[in-house]
Amino acid sequence: MVSGAFLRRARGDAMGEAPGILVDFDAALEIVARHAEGLAAPAVEVVELLAGRGRVLGGEVKADRDQPPFDRSTRDGFAVRATDAGDAAELRVVGQVRAGERWVGDALEGGCAIEIMTGAPVPTGADAVVMVEHVARVGSVLRVEAGRIVRMGENVVPRGAEARAGEVVLGVGAVIGAAEIAVAAACGCSTLEVFQRPTVAIVATGDELVELRQLPGEVLGESQIWNSNSYGIAAMVEEAGGDALRMPVAPDEREALEAIILQARKADLLVLSGGVSMGEYDLVEEVLLGMGAEFFFTGVKMQPGKPVVFGRLPARGEAKEQYIFGLPGNPVSTQVTFHCFVEPLLRAMGGAGGSGPRFVQATLAEDVTGKAGLMRVLPARLTTDRVRPEVRLVGWQGSGDLAANARANCYAVLPPERTTFRAGDVITVLIR
Ligand code: AMP
Ligand code: MG
Repeated sequence: MVSGAFLRRARGDAMGEAPGILVDFDAALEIVARHAEGLAAPAVEVVELLAGRGRVLGGEVKADRDQPPFDRSTRDGFAVRATDAGDAAELRVVGQVRAGERWVGDALEGGCAIEIMTGAPVPTGADAVVMVEHVARVGSVLRVEAGRIVRMGENVVPRGAEARAGEVVLGVGAVIGAAEIAVAAACGCSTLEVFQRPTVAIVATGDELVELRQLPGEVLGESQIWNSNSYGIAAMVEEAGGDALRMPVAPDEREALEAIILQARKADLLVLSGGVSMGEYDLVEEVLLGMGAEFFFTGVKMQPGKPVVFGRLPARGEAKEQYIFGLPGNPVSTQVTFHCFVEPLLRAMGGAGGSGPRFVQATLAEDVTGKAGLMRVLPARLTTDRVRPEVRLVGWQGSGDLAANARANCYAVLPPERTTFRAGDVITVLIR
């Protein structure tokens, strides 16, 4: 078995050692993206329309007929011929058509108008709708307001303009939200084909960890802490479209850790927390290596999150090939590295296209100074109530500060080559 010291050297943490698989932040994103691209499409299942919310579409949704299925009026008003309905024109009202009805009379003739409601089919012969606000009606006499110009096609959406029968309105890989459910319903779909969710086994490591218990009032020993990471990771997994399987806490002990990892091999993806730093009892990489893992990176030049590990365990016996992430145990590092690296791969495993981390640009609200050398991904708050989105760092006590992380709603991404950022600078923000 290769020793932990070997891996620490490979990571380039030891003084003077050549960096092995310690990579730049952008390179790490790129490595994950490359693996995400190579994934096979997941299996498909059928669910009720509303149960599709938050899932990823596994089969196209097509328009069941032309949308709209007829030339549709978008306003309450009067169907007219544009050429004879302009400035102060006087027209004769010859009938009415409501939503859900169809005009069964003769085609509209010059000098005439048919009262029409929003959503009703425009009668043949008419090519525009004048809004009710722009006319005065006395009995069957309609006068268009002075100076009004009525254009052909005004307030009419032609049949098939939104989608032609059979046209794809939702593509495979779309994440299903309210907009997707609404358009699927408009196409008559009461069910949706969705991709099966990838399963994610979560293994928290650390002798100091205590599993949350059902008993109220449980008191911890002074040096013990609740295993919060399993829950934080499980929540991020579910939000990223996975099914979380929380495994028992693994102690910092080789055989027990390996036994729990073996149980976790049934999942599509394995996420570990803790045990990837420089300490004597940080055994995760060593144990994974002993199980035949290959590593794509074992450290990223970022802060927090530097010890993050990405690799793959080979197929063995019943177990399939399995991607693995070893996230640093410090809970904010855990969250940051999950959003940067685990989430894109997990979304891609679930069949969602274009799944990279979501970065936006925002204006820095205050000066920031810090150390150079590592990409910093710091808890921050983005406010969008101003014309341009503004971001400010959240005060924190370092990468164990979950309370600060909860006060944040994003992470400010500060590049390694600068130490000073000024209020008004435009910076990158990672949305979580
Ligand atoms: P490690 O990465 O194992 O060196 O852990 C770094 C820090 O994160 C230590 O202070 C740990 O106590 C803490 N930590 C590790 N795992 C967890 C966890 N599952 N929940 C909460 N804190 C943790
Ligand atoms: Mg630990």
